Amino acid sequence: MEVKLLKVTKGGLDMVAEAARISGVSETRSANEIVELITYNDYSSALEHIYFSFDIADISVALSRELLEHRIASHTARSTRYMEENGFEYYLPPDLERRENDEAVKLYRDAMKSANETYTKLRALGVAREEARYVLPMALHTHYVVTMNVRSLINFFMLRLCVRAAPEMNALAIRMYKLCVEEYPAVFVKVWCRGYTLGVCPENEVRPKECPFKKILPTKRAIKDEFEDRAREIIDKKLEKS
Ligand SMILES: Cc1cc2nc3c(=O)[nH]c(=O)nc-3n(C[C@H](O)[C@H](O)[C@H](O)COP(=O)(O)OP(=O)(O)OC[C@H]3O[C@@H](n4cnc5c(N)ncnc54)[C@H](O)[C@@H]3O)c2cc1C
Repeated sequence: MEVKLLKVTKGGLDMVAEAARISGVSETRSANEIVELITYNDYSSALEHIYFSFDIADISVALSRELLEHRIASHTARSTRYMEENGFEYYLPPDLERRENDEAVKLYRDAMKSANETYTKLRALGVAREEARYVLPMALHTHYVVTMNVRSLINFFMLRLCVRAAPEMNALAIRMYKLCVEEYPAVFVKVWCRGYTLGVCPENEVRPKECPFKKILPTKRAIKDEFEDRAREIIDKKLEKS
């Protein structure tokens, strides 16, 4: 996997601060302070003025499908309709890679070889790329360009830096995060998975043992159980009165 920063909004902190001041944030606060406040208190719409574009090479089609689930973004992917895929490269999951010489790795690699041979034969028989491509595997390497604004990126990191994200997605999110935090530390230093960012983990009981924050971050359920009944009574009274 190769991840490069193609483009980023320059002077974004001043732009965000200016937008926030228009909406009433105090003139005396510096751009850095305003951005930290907006990020931390989740007044995030002003962050939409900053954009990042990434060039992402050598990821699987399976990962590109997951990326596409992030709708608040602009996506461009290598076309299997217009590009030749003979001799394609493919993703090998790290857990399988560690089992080198194992029967499972052999099976996996044989499946890739077989898909490649079938694709090549179909093309040699004059089958169009748009038809031959259906034999290509989800592991097929693809090339991707994605542009996201910072608000959407924060949402992306909160979901995909969680240890529950698929390993290839998690690896991509870490690479993208490193590029983002380098460009705009005031925004991203307080961002990681949902648990870290919100101070409470919404994964509740499905939080796996691999979670590095398991011992120090409460779950949403534990926090809500403390106050939910009393808070509901307040809401019900309010509803009765109105
Ligand atoms: C661990 C994990 C497991 C997953 N498993 C599955 C799975 O099994 N199957 C599956 O299909 N997906 C799965 N997903 C994908 C997930 O459901 C989301 O589609 C994906 O994470 C994109 O998140 P998003 O909708 O917040 O992002 P975006 O699409 O970028 O949206 C950003 C935000 O905009 C708002 N928004 C966007 N579109 C709408 C809309 N139409 N209506 C209202 N609000 C909107 C929401 O607030 C949303 O959070 C999984 C994700 C994770 C992290």
